[in-house]
Amino acid sequence: MFNTLSDRLTSVLQNLRGKGRLSEADIDATAREIRVALLEADVALPVVRTFIAKVKERAKGAEVSQALNPAQQVVKIVNEELVGILGGETRRLNLAKNPPTVIMLAGLQGAGKTTLAGKLARWLKAQGHTPMLVACDLQRPNAVTQLQVVGQRAGVPVFAPEPGNGVGDPVDVARKGIEEAKRAQHDVVVVDTAGRLGVDEEMMRQAVDIRAAVQPDEVLFVVDAMIGQDAVNTATAFQDGVGFTGVVLTKLDGDARGGAALSVREVTGQPILFASNGEKLEDFDVFHPDRMASRILGMGDMLTLIEQAEQAFDADQAEAAAVKMGSGQLTLEDFLEQMLALRKMGPIANLLGMLPGAGQMKDQLANLDEKHLDRVQAIIRGMTPAERDDPKIINASRRLRIANGSGVRVSDVNDLVNRFFEARKMMSQMAGRFGL
Ligand code: GDP
Repeated sequence: MFNTLSDRLTSVLQNLRGKGRLSEADIDATAREIRVALLEADVALPVVRTFIAKVKERAKGAEVSQALNPAQQVVKIVNEELVGILGGETRRLNLAKNPPTVIMLAGLQGAGKTTLAGKLARWLKAQGHTPMLVACDLQRPNAVTQLQVVGQRAGVPVFAPEPGNGVGDPVDVARKGIEEAKRAQHDVVVVDTAGRLGVDEEMMRQAVDIRAAVQPDEVLFVVDAMIGQDAVNTATAFQDGVGFTGVVLTKLDGDARGGAALSVREVTGQPILFASNGEKLEDFDVFHPDRMASRILGMGDMLTLIEQAEQAFDADQAEAAAVKMGSGQLTLEDFLEQMLALRKMGPIANLLGMLPGAGQMKDQLANLDEKHLDRVQAIIRGMTPAERDDPKIINASRRLRIANGSGVRVSDVNDLVNRFFEARKMMSQMAGRFGL
């Protein structure tokens, strides 16, 4: 999703690089190209118009910055406006003061509601909640069974009408579901509702009735980002018909142009809370407007990288290593630990791909030699603990033994040891300079 838009915007903005000053004509031309890129990505026309007007006004206005050159200034403005369209701040789920929090899902058939119910349940559980799912989609054959399957996968209970009583009343099921959640002390209830293939009165009425019966804290409108411009019309119809408090974008993993996803928030005024990007329960995340914007602009997703790093690194261990680095006492053992932690985050090429400017380096990154890292790992593992602590003690015969033991050449071992000494020296110099 967004690949074409991202490529286009990156290249438009790159054309500005190296210009000392931007004339009005430069800004107009850039704005025109951005406009075409957005329209081609299916972003709704009114949203494009507002966006372009704001970017132009700000770029031509008095926003003179000492710190940024004109091109950087435009990138900054475009980024900020994009974050604005996507909703600005990350909007968290509203939790009720008196549990259970009730979350109702609404949207067309096939939008991904039932799948989302499972994803939400799994996510809520991971946050320490005790969610329960309620099956009120009694329209679509198998919807109840499907919810039971995702519930089981997520490890959360599902409240469903007794089988064999014909088509039950979804409003009644919803009401009973909430009662059951209270009784069994679940703190969040997710109510799955029926959708139709198109917007239809009966579906809206049922959704309105369920909403009235369960008084949800959140009504999430679930929309398939692949349906293009229709997403905006559907969103408007649901907003007018049932009303909702937030949006969930699904199927962001598809290769559609995705601009509709960029329009829903601006058109309905309701924030995007979550994004789904795959069929598995874990393909799901909180929606962060700032991160999405920088991803679209090809600036990389530094925040995701930092978050992953935090998860992979043991904070105490990292801090201890930092202190050692500063004092010039870093050992190869520390180095190995840090490298293993980094590699836990995934292939190095993927990590680098998230860094700003890495977009154009995709090909080189694909060739990045993971085997080299394997070799380094093997060499360090071939050393004794004392040698890892102080590689100076490794003499020529030991170097040969280590090389043979780890299947590399002696020159590889020498190389690693020499580079380690250099790095250690550099780190302690740097630490001195920064007063660490
Ligand atoms: P519902 O009718 O709204 O309940 O929709 P479902 O949850 O049954 O989803 C419809 C189809 O879309 C199913 O085949 C899901 O596996 C699939 N689906 C749901 N979310 C995603 C997603 O984020 N990405 C992809 N690729 N498929 C999804």
